[in-house]
Order: sequence, then C-alpha cells, then structure tokens
Amino acid sequence: MTESDLPKADILVIDDTPENLNLLSTMLIDRGYKVRSVTKGSTGIRGAQVMPPDLILLDVNMPQMNGYEVCEQLKADDRTRDIPIIFISALEAVNDKVKAFQAGGVDYITKPFQIEEVLARIETHLTLRRLQNQLQSKNEQLQQEIRDRQHAEEKFATIFRQSPNPIAIVTIPEGQFIEVNSSFLSISGYSLDEVIGCTIAQLHLGRDIDAFMRRLQTRTAFHNLEFELLTRSQTRKNILLSVDHIDLNGTSYALLIANDITERKRLENEFISLVSHELRTPLTSMMGSLDLLGSGQLGNLTEQGQQVLNIGIKNAERLIRLINDILDLERIRSGKITMNLRSCNLADLMTQATEEMQSMANGSNIQLITEPLSLFLTVDPDRIVQTLTNLLSNAIKFSQPNNQVWMQARSTISSICISVCDQGRGIPAHQIQTIFERFQQVDASDARQKGGTGLGLAICRNIVEQHGGRIWVESIVNQGSTFHVELPLSDETI
Ligand code: ADP
Repeated sequence: MTESDLPKADILVIDDTPENLNLLSTMLIDRGYKVRSVTKGSTGIRGAQVMPPDLILLDVNMPQMNGYEVCEQLKADDRTRDIPIIFISALEAVNDKVKAFQAGGVDYITKPFQIEEVLARIETHLTLRRLQNQLQSKNEQLQQEIRDRQHAEEKFATIFRQSPNPIAIVTIPEGQFIEVNSSFLSISGYSLDEVIGCTIAQLHLGRDIDAFMRRLQTRTAFHNLEFELLTRSQTRKNILLSVDHIDLNGTSYALLIANDITERKRLENEFISLVSHELRTPLTSMMGSLDLLGSGQLGNLTEQGQQVLNIGIKNAERLIRLINDILDLERIRSGKITMNLRSCNLADLMTQATEEMQSMANGSNIQLITEPLSLFLTVDPDRIVQTLTNLLSNAIKFSQPNNQVWMQARSTISSICISVCDQGRGIPAHQIQTIFERFQQVDASDARQKGGTGLGLAICRNIVEQHGGRIWVESIVNQGSTFHVELPLSDETI
C-alpha cells in the first residue's frame, strides 16, 4: 500500500474561535482529512478519549481550560497519551512555546498561519507517529519472539537437564565434553568440573574407547551400540550408546545419548548361566546315550539309523560346545577362573595353536603360514593357545579354498602383538566393534553354516583383558581381516 492509498488521518481541532475552526476544518477536509472540531477543551478531551484521533490541533488561548491544561490532561490519560498535539496560537513569545512543549506538545504554529506550513507540519507528525507505531509494534513482536524462544529454550534445556538418559555433547574429532546432563554425571561418578573441557579419552571411560573414538571420527551416526562404561570409581556399567551429529552455531558436534542397561545385563547373564547349568546335565547324559547307541552294544543300527544318529551326535556336540563356551565366558568374566600365569615361549604357543588348527586348514584347503617369534612372556599358556586357535579357526572358516592365513608376532619394549591375517570375506565397518560381544555374528546364518557359537571372540577378548592386553580387528570387506592381540610384557620377561 502506498502513502496515497492510506486512509487519510482523523484530526481533532480544538479552538474556541469559530472562524479559526471553520478555516482549519475546511482546509483539512479539502485535503481529504477526516476532521472533528470542537470549541471547548473539555469536549475535546472527552471526544479524544472515546475515539482517539490521529492528531490534535489545539488552540492555546481558550476560556475555562486553556490549551496547556487540555494538553496536560490528554497526556495524563493512557488512552490519549500518544496522540501528537500541535499547538496553534497567536502568542509568539519563546516562553509560551517552551510551555507548550513542556506540556507535551510536539509542535507549535503561530497565527496567522500559512496553510501549506500547517499541512506540512501535520503530515510530518502523522508520518512520525506512523513510524513510531510501526516501531512499537515491531518491538512488541520482537519481544514476543524473544519470549517464545526463551520458553522453547527453557523447555529443551529442562528436557536435557532432567532426562533420565545420560546425555553429553562433545566436539569432533577431539571428543571434548561441552555439555553433559546430571544423569551423565551420576552414572559416570564425575563432577561437572571434572568433565567439561576434558576429552573422552582423558577420562578413560571404557576399554573400547579407542574403537569408539575412531568411530566418532568417521562422523557417521550410530544407535544402540553396547558399550562398557568405566566409572570414576572404576565400576563397570553396561550402556547402550547412540551418537548423532548436531550443528550448533555452524560447528558440528556429536550428541551422545546413553541408556543404562547394567541391571538388565546382569539379569541376562544370570539367566544365561542358570539355563546353561541346567542344560548341561541332561545334555551330557543324552550324549552318553547316543554314544552307547553308536557303539553297537545295544544292537546294530541300519545304515540309515547310523546316519540319523550321527546328525543327533553332531547337534548334541554343538549344543555342548555352546554351553561350555557360555559357562567358560561367564567364569572368565566374573573372575571365577584365575589365569594360571607361567613364563613361556611365545613361539611354542604359536606352534601349538597352528598344529591344533592344521587339520581344519587342510580340510578347507587353506594354507596356514605361521612365523613363530621366540620370546618369553608370562601368560596362561592354555588360555593364550585357546585365543590363537579361536582366531585361526575363524580365519579359516571365513576364507575361501586356496586362500592363505598368516600368524605373525612383533614385539616392542613393553608389549608383543600377535596378528592373525586372512584373505577372507572381511567384516563390515559397522560390525567391527560388536563382533566382540557375545552372540554377535556378521550374518545370522553364520552359526548354522559355519558351526560357530558367536562366543569365540567374546571369550578371546575376556582372556586378553585378563592379561591386561587388548584385542581389535582391522578389516576390509571381500579383502580380508587382521585380528591383533596385544599383550603387555611384564618387567621380568623383558
Ligand atoms: P563364531 O563362533 O560365530 O565364529 P566368534 O565370536 O568367533 O563367533 O565370531 C563372531 C563373528 O565375527 C563370526 O560369526 C563372523 O561373523 C565374524 N568373524 C570373526 N572372525 C572373522 C574373520 N576372520 N573373517 C570374517 N568374519 C569374522
């Protein structure tokens, strides 16, 4: 809408001289203004209160109530306070003009006036008033927006602060804590001062922290990753961790949301170990019965009967293996099995593991290449051989005929690292970490097809950790995997 489209302003003229009143009214009506004219101050005030005009032209010299008093009363009333008032008077003294401004007038025109001057001044003040109104409503709108935003922020801040889920915001790639909520502090046991500004690595929040940081740096979101959190008092808590990337003021951060599943996990462990114990006795007895049938002592079986029996034996053996693995893992985890540490030559352990796996490798047409490293270290030899055979067995299982599998070792001043490398199908990046959890398999059919239990790597990790070491894997899908086992060298073995 242009200026000329706007409806012309409503002007109230208050003057006790009818000639003046007529002159002004006619002049303004001619120019298209809406005009109300009154000869008494009190009538003008009432009219302005009932229907506030856009502007008032006010004579100074009037009987009963002069212009200054009228102006003061209008300025004292909320309904009329903001209406611009232009005084019109024959008084030319500076003092009179000052009084007019003091009373709240916006302008002062002396009589006899020039029509064009009056019009110009009216327009100026109407424009000023319009701009002022616009400014005021813009201001109110902004204030409202600020209030709305504050409410929204408060709402989200409250959700963040009071969420029962531990939440943290960290920088990428450093993993430095920017914000954490109270649930995070209570699960981790740290105070706010100890956390803010520190990095995830500095706080040693868990054994998988290196793998977690590598994952964070890939800047991909992931959800419900099982993670073992190490609290300030070194207690282990099980959490499901989800990471999303958020943008705050143009910088990208990682939003970490955790779910405490410690209790659920404890019940799950308890349940699994209970069931396993209960299953072992009848299974062992069943195995005995099957063996007895197979021995022929109870009569000879037909060829078909023998085949069916073999299937039964194979499956019973698999179940026993699974249960033994579960119980083994449970005992290692809970510390019921102590590592039987002795000084032994690593080369012997590598050779022993290779010999144990040689027939499996031959059966699958895999070339097994081991480069034993002669070096003494203090470990539980049976458990380390168990770990290496497990890794070799996986490497063979997940390779193609005619592939090669290597086992090598390197030493540094403080540790040795044994690597088992294959040219097999590899492991997708998002599963690199989870396969060390029990029952985690890349493909749900692996257990059936490859005869595994999904517990091997979980057992390996527990054994390695009981030795103060760590295990991890590097892998490229369809090219192969390399599992690394790093064990510390104690002072006496160096
Ligand atoms: P399983 O008894 O199924 O072998 P593990 O815990 O030893 O259980 O391994 C878990 C899963 O990790 C396997 O089912 C397989 O999907 C994957 N995996 C382990 N080792 C390899 C490997 N060398 N190459 C490809 N995938 C592997």
